Amino acid sequence: MYLKRIEIQGFKSFANKIVFDFHNGITGIVGPNGSGKSNVSDAVRWVLGEQSAKQLRGGNMQDVIFAGTELRKPLGFAYVAITMDNSDHKLDIDFEEITVSRRLFRSGESEYMINGSACRLKDISELFFDTGIGKDGYSIIGQGQVDKILNGKPEERRELFDEAAGITKFKRRKGLALKKLESERESLIRVNDIITELE
Ligand code: ATP
Repeated sequence: MYLKRIEIQGFKSFANKIVFDFHNGITGIVGPNGSGKSNVSDAVRWVLGEQSAKQLRGGNMQDVIFAGTELRKPLGFAYVAITMDNSDHKLDIDFEEITVSRRLFRSGESEYMINGSACRLKDISELFFDTGIGKDGYSIIGQGQVDKILNGKPEERRELFDEAAGITKFKRRKGLALKKLESERESLIRVNDIITELE
């Protein structure tokens, strides 16, 4: 599995639609300061569901929408799509190629899609569980993040190893099962109360 394509339109400094095609290997993006290199990795983080404007170096989420320049009006929406080559089926979905997209309008309305079908953010997060890809995945290491990892709490570092070991999804499922068990336990207490009342 590898990142095959990024399509960006109206996101941060990319007013016009731009398509980056990557190949299976190392790609470097170079350019002068402020030319938008970090905006490319922000776009990937954003499409994977980043909800924190601060992580994207903005004040609020609408700041990711192209804000205009002296020569160009602001745009009304931001759009990012990433395409993953899944010919090795590392992602648990029956497609050789997977495109995940996110669109945000100034009104706050937003939509996520997987291969052209509307989906929830949860579906995108689950798709990438245990792959290291994701808004918090270790496949995107932002500026200052290495220091944060090294100085982080042991539990925070543990999350990184859990993801690499492929057990995040099991931990999540265990959490959901425990929650369900707790709610069943409460229902059982209520049922027993009713039985006692009736006796
Ligand atoms: P450096 O090498 O200094 O880290 P960089 O190449 O990584 O720089 P970025 O930080 O990706 O550059 O891009 C910064 C540019 O993006 C700035 O010129 C900023 O004005 C522009 N920018 C950010 N958000 C928006 C927006 N919503 N609309 C228009 N331009 C934006």
